[in-house]
Amino acid sequence: MGKVTGFIEFKREKQPYRSIKKRLHDWNQVMEPWPVEPLKNQAARCMDCGIPFCHQGCPLGNLIPDWNDLVYRDNWLDAINRLHETNNFPEFTGTLCPAPCEGSCVLGINDDPVTIKAVELSIIDKAWENGWIKPEIAKQKTDEKIAIIGSGPAGLAAAQQLARAGHDVTVFERDDRIGGLLRYGIPEFKMEKKRLDRRLQQLAEEGVVFKTNCYVGENIKVTDLQKDFNVLLLTGGACESRDLIVEGRDLRGIYQAMEYLPMQNRLCEGDVELDNFINAKGKHVIIIGGGDTGADCLGTANRQGAKSVHQLEILPKPPNVRTDDNPWPEWPHIFRTASAHEEGVERVYSVSTKKFIDDGKGNVKALQVAKVEMKNLNGMPTFEEVEGSTQELHCDLVLLAMGFIGPEKIGMLEQLGVQLDNRGNVVTDKNTWMTNIEGVFSAGDMRRGQSLIVWAIAEGRSAAAGIDKYLMGETDLPALV
Ligand SMILES: Cc1cc2nc3c(=O)[nH]c(=O)nc-3n(C[C@H](O)[C@H](O)[C@H](O)COP(=O)(O)OP(=O)(O)OC[C@H]3O[C@@H](n4cnc5c(N)ncnc54)[C@H](O)[C@@H]3O)c2cc1C
Ligand code: SF4
Repeated sequence: MGKVTGFIEFKREKQPYRSIKKRLHDWNQVMEPWPVEPLKNQAARCMDCGIPFCHQGCPLGNLIPDWNDLVYRDNWLDAINRLHETNNFPEFTGTLCPAPCEGSCVLGINDDPVTIKAVELSIIDKAWENGWIKPEIAKQKTDEKIAIIGSGPAGLAAAQQLARAGHDVTVFERDDRIGGLLRYGIPEFKMEKKRLDRRLQQLAEEGVVFKTNCYVGENIKVTDLQKDFNVLLLTGGACESRDLIVEGRDLRGIYQAMEYLPMQNRLCEGDVELDNFINAKGKHVIIIGGGDTGADCLGTANRQGAKSVHQLEILPKPPNVRTDDNPWPEWPHIFRTASAHEEGVERVYSVSTKKFIDDGKGNVKALQVAKVEMKNLNGMPTFEEVEGSTQELHCDLVLLAMGFIGPEKIGMLEQLGVQLDNRGNVVTDKNTWMTNIEGVFSAGDMRRGQSLIVWAIAEGRSAAAGIDKYLMGETDLPALV
């Protein structure tokens, strides 16, 4: 380890953010780069614990203690090489990952965990700055043609692995730009799209062909793809939003988060002619759903100039520290404050929406809500209304951010006849990554349900190994999950 006494000498520091005053006036990334010397001290806190549980906490199996040590020793080139062994896109995870690794860091048993995610981001930023990221073009080509449907992190990770293994890879995307939720979903202030664009450039130089506005199952027949390609990989995500079917749902001014967020993404991309742009400027906004998608809506609404924002959550407020039934090294279910929360919001817990109220002209003017108490019914949470707690909350714009119920079934999945599990996700064999249809594979949210970037990359890499083995009889590509 870099510094044996590092974890005693240095305390965990907070990721530097731009000031709220400044960042609310633009769409640039909230995080600031960490200066090198203090960051090296953070890396030095990694303490040679013997059994690094962070390896298991990270779905990619990132070799965290190795690169913490290399950063402390100022050996950034070896650090990025080690990091790229397990992660194709550390800049995506370095900016966006909730860092389950930190929840399982051994130092976290009785102190604050190592700032793993910040070290990861600094390594990849340094590598781009120094021009170390180059296309890695396959030395030998195979004759195998692979179609990847969906260009999110799962599809991109698989595409890079398979192109580097020598296969011809074409990525089909129904949107007008490549990137999946990294492009249309995650706001610019969380990850600037230039990070995505330069990776896409690298993939293109490695031979990956990107086709946009290709909606497989709609304007492209899935049977044509089966004829033209040896293998199909389905990485279409889990884009079906959960709805709130209560009285007044059809009023104007109520939108799904994924109707709202992509519009602002488009504006940030420079698209100006946007029909029916949903703007929070000057409005009282209510976000229903206390999770990360809700926080993205919040940061977007505040930047657009909302008058007020409430974020409602049906669950009770989480505790500030781990409870006894949520011990280390599990992911800590504790109260968290995202950068968007620091920028202004009223967070309301244990509340359920009973109906949307009309202003008399077909627009939403308020929400009728009630306090609820969470009960446990045969291991399932249920919510009981607290008598006499009904109240109205005034609003002009409501954003629904209540999660996703799985992949879209109509179209590609239905036409292929792939088997789905009881949650509606695509079933694959756990070793081969193939679905019930010969030569058709799946990975990412389409297979595991709405999840995380880090899981999408991990699954894309593993599915690539499954495909390579299917085509070639053996594979050198790594597979972890
Ligand atoms: C608003 C929001 C914010 C998030 N923030 C974070 C975060 O900060 N950190 C984190 O770790 N995770 C976050 N997530 C989750 C994360 O984005 C996803 O888990 C991840 O993007 C899944 O990757 P994927 O490649 O499986 O699918 P996606 O990224 O969903 O990409 C699927 C792509 O497939 C395309 N597609 C679907 N069907 C077809 C078809 N038939 N033909 C052609 N193309 C098709 C879609 O248009 C889409 O572009 C967030 C999710 C949302 C919604
Ligand atoms: S990808 Fe996520 S879990 Fe893995 S090391 Fe990076 S921050 Fe931690």
